[in-house]
Amino acid sequence: MNHFDSRNGALCAEDVPLEKIAHEVGTPTYVYSSATLNRHLSVVRDAFGTVPHVLCYSVKANSTLGVLKLVVKHGSGFDIVSGGELARVLEAGGDPKRIVFSGVGKREDEMVAALRAGILMFNVESAEELALLDRVGRRAKKKAPFSLRVNPDVDPRTHKYIATGLKSSKFGVPFEEAVALYRASRKMKGLQAMGVDCHIGSQLTDAKPFAQALSRVAGLYTTLKAEGFPLTHLDVGGGLGVTYTDEKPPGLAAYSQVVVDSTRHTGATVVLEPGRVIVANAGVLITRVLFNKKTKTKHFLIVDAGMNDLMRPALYEAHHDIVAVKPRRGAKTTVEIVGPVCESTDVLGKARSVPPLVAGDLLAIKTAGAYGMSMASTYNSRPRPAEVLVDGKRWRVIRKREALQDLWRGETP
Ligand SMILES: *Cc1c(COP(=O)(O)O)cnc(C)c1O
Repeated sequence: MNHFDSRNGALCAEDVPLEKIAHEVGTPTYVYSSATLNRHLSVVRDAFGTVPHVLCYSVKANSTLGVLKLVVKHGSGFDIVSGGELARVLEAGGDPKRIVFSGVGKREDEMVAALRAGILMFNVESAEELALLDRVGRRAKKKAPFSLRVNPDVDPRTHKYIATGLKSSKFGVPFEEAVALYRASRKMKGLQAMGVDCHIGSQLTDAKPFAQALSRVAGLYTTLKAEGFPLTHLDVGGGLGVTYTDEKPPGLAAYSQVVVDSTRHTGATVVLEPGRVIVANAGVLITRVLFNKKTKTKHFLIVDAGMNDLMRPALYEAHHDIVAVKPRRGAKTTVEIVGPVCESTDVLGKARSVPPLVAGDLLAIKTAGAYGMSMASTYNSRPRPAEVLVDGKRWRVIRKREALQDLWRGETP
């Protein structure tokens, strides 16, 4: 469900024609729908309405302040993976008591900042990280609240680059070693065990791996409780997939049923870390056609957005539907939609059937709200896109297009 629909033959974000935004802000530009974002946050919250839970939106999916502010207003919390994300959340007015800090490579200064801010808990991924967090806690004369991220060794059946819960993955503590580490933490005075955590991957379209992982993790939680650990939180991670083209991920009702069924007997407060499912469908990337270029074998449609603006196709072979904002009449042709970046992987859409398009026409790359702008770079010295947030008839720029001078800020010739 999203709020990007055609009206009188022109694609709109809520009540605002995308053409109008492109005219005033230029292209490429990310456009988000507040109604879609709010709806997704509410649907997640309501799906877990029957159990105690904390909704911690995964900041790395889209970390723009205007988006974070909307999450704050909704009353939700945050899952962060760096000191930079912590700073962004605090800047947006986020409640530190609803922040969980994940990631395999936290630096000491990042731990100190998060402990000082008073976050809900650290999700720790190795024995050495646990020892460092203990030292940070002792030095601050505090007990750093932590969960171990355990690796349940299940195959999430997603793209290999976004599977994180396999034995071979860098993420999490091997399941067999978790109990010993919790026991060892008893002697560490700078720590307080608070829960158990897992996150098995992203863009999951099957509920089974969730059920398998959660039953293992809930079992560990129960074992630890029986040993006297005062645990209160069970973090089930994120990872619920969305529909980019014809995927059929479980709906939120089905997903919450799996989570609740696997964890209710523990009595724990469930921590949720959804990212993609909140923002992916809430955003599009609008781009203009630069050229049609026909070779003997292919018809390329060259547009002004590239892999630096939206990296997912190049990085994960990801598919995004791409549509004309104002389709012209005429026979459809099959084209390769490519960006200007000097890399052969700069292909936004392979073998797409499109209506006739000429230079200056606008396209919308759909389902681009998650892992779009947050992964954008300035490769080829291309300023990063502007971002716009639409709310009904109103809209505002929540990030200006990068200026050329921004490209070399901090550099010394
Ligand atoms: C990326 C990530 C998430 C969010 O994943 P989605 O697939 O966007 O829901 C949640 N938790 C952790 C630890 C992550 O790394």
